[in-house]
Amino acid sequence: MKNLKRFEVWFITGSQNLYGEETLKQVDKDSKQIAAFLNESMSIPCKVVFKPVLKSAEEITGICTEANISQKCVGLITWMHTFSPAKMWIAGLKILNKPFAHLHTQFNRDIPWEKIDMDFMNLNQSAHGGREFGFICSRLRKDRKVIVGHWQDETVHRELEIWMRAACAWFDWQGMKVARFGDNMREVAVTEGDKVEAQKQFGYSVNGYGVGDLVNVINQVTNKQIDRTVDEYRSLYKVDVPKKQSESLREAAKIEVGMKKFLADGGFKAFTTTFEDLHGLVQLPGLAVQRLMAEGYGFGAEGDWKTAALVRAMKVMAAGADGGTSFMEDYTYHLDPSGMKVLGAHMLEVCPTLASGKPSLQVHPLGIGGKADPARLVFNVPEGEGINVSMMDMGNRFRMLANPCRVVAPDAALPKLPVARVVWEPRPDLKTAAAAWILGGGAHHTGFSMALTKEHIADFAEIAGVEYLLIDDDTTIASLKKDIRINEVYYALAKTLK
Ligand code: MN
Repeated sequence: MKNLKRFEVWFITGSQNLYGEETLKQVDKDSKQIAAFLNESMSIPCKVVFKPVLKSAEEITGICTEANISQKCVGLITWMHTFSPAKMWIAGLKILNKPFAHLHTQFNRDIPWEKIDMDFMNLNQSAHGGREFGFICSRLRKDRKVIVGHWQDETVHRELEIWMRAACAWFDWQGMKVARFGDNMREVAVTEGDKVEAQKQFGYSVNGYGVGDLVNVINQVTNKQIDRTVDEYRSLYKVDVPKKQSESLREAAKIEVGMKKFLADGGFKAFTTTFEDLHGLVQLPGLAVQRLMAEGYGFGAEGDWKTAALVRAMKVMAAGADGGTSFMEDYTYHLDPSGMKVLGAHMLEVCPTLASGKPSLQVHPLGIGGKADPARLVFNVPEGEGINVSMMDMGNRFRMLANPCRVVAPDAALPKLPVARVVWEPRPDLKTAAAAWILGGGAHHTGFSMALTKEHIADFAEIAGVEYLLIDDDTTIASLKKDIRINEVYYALAKTLK
């Protein structure tokens, strides 16, 4: 999970035969240099692969076909060094099913004012070559990212980085398997949805498994495996479990080993549980879920498969970046008008990648569910910028809703709240953000991250072709209502445009 270098982004350059051999050689050389430079940039997470300069419709269609079937290529960077007549691009772009970013750069950063002649002008033609390419992409209604600036500019690299992370998460969703242990929490609406439509649009499949199937695997866990896992707990966490509860801790370790085996054997990348269906499980899998999330698994509680898939995508986007990512729930409010905030948590399942310092491992009774006392990691989260993201099935489409926030310290210690928790102030403020979230139909479950920004989520939503609604510093209730109405019309009509 940590390394996205196993994924490739292909660097492709558009030109044409009209320029003659000498200019094309130069174009080839310059493109190679840019691709190599990007590949070595610390902020570029994927491997950038140079592809020979494209001069004809046949070559363009060929590379698009190759990209479509590549098991490593997550997307393309397109660059028009010179003019590349865009009718040549129609067939290729029509079939291309990988995302692309149009890098609108020029090999020479500056105009050599004293020396510039027509040769320079004919080689450095991105200014109009990029427009010709842009037209055909727009004419074909191709969603893509356009990045403008010199290829050595750090801000360009940062934009590319964000887009690449989103492209990796999209690639990861294709063919992804999500396991559901038990069904939906009874009568809950927002966690439901059309799984067939999700598979068609997003590429991941969601299938249910009997809790008994999981319990069978858990029951095969050996004492030796349990010992090893408990030792790991002792090395990683502050274990605050009295002797009389040590059996609970061993039970949690047993559940973790079994769950991990079930998920690994089945090739799953995300999963859901539900505390209403725990037949044969001695305790709610809290610690196991926390640790599996830390390994990169997506998770949704109460059968919430959309959030499980979303958390996995956010984990992939955040791979190797600073800051944690987790399943989350808006739990309780602090409505003091001088500083309104949200306390986010779940019954147990918050990912320890968010923790400030060493988490404390504890065993306590759970108020609901009627099972034995479960183990869980308890911790606070450092202050900083974060984002909550939610995904809902609106009937005729899916919607992704995002709301950046500022994570703050709790006003006081929370000695009687033995769960991991995060306190945040949503942007622009809780009063506006909560009203906007509710008007947008946003779920109580979210993917929460301190490694990602609204830019990552916007890029991902665009690649996924899913509605994106943002609540941030510029949001007013009037503007959000307008966004919702425009989106209702757009998503009904857009299907007829492509
Ligand atoms: Mn919940």
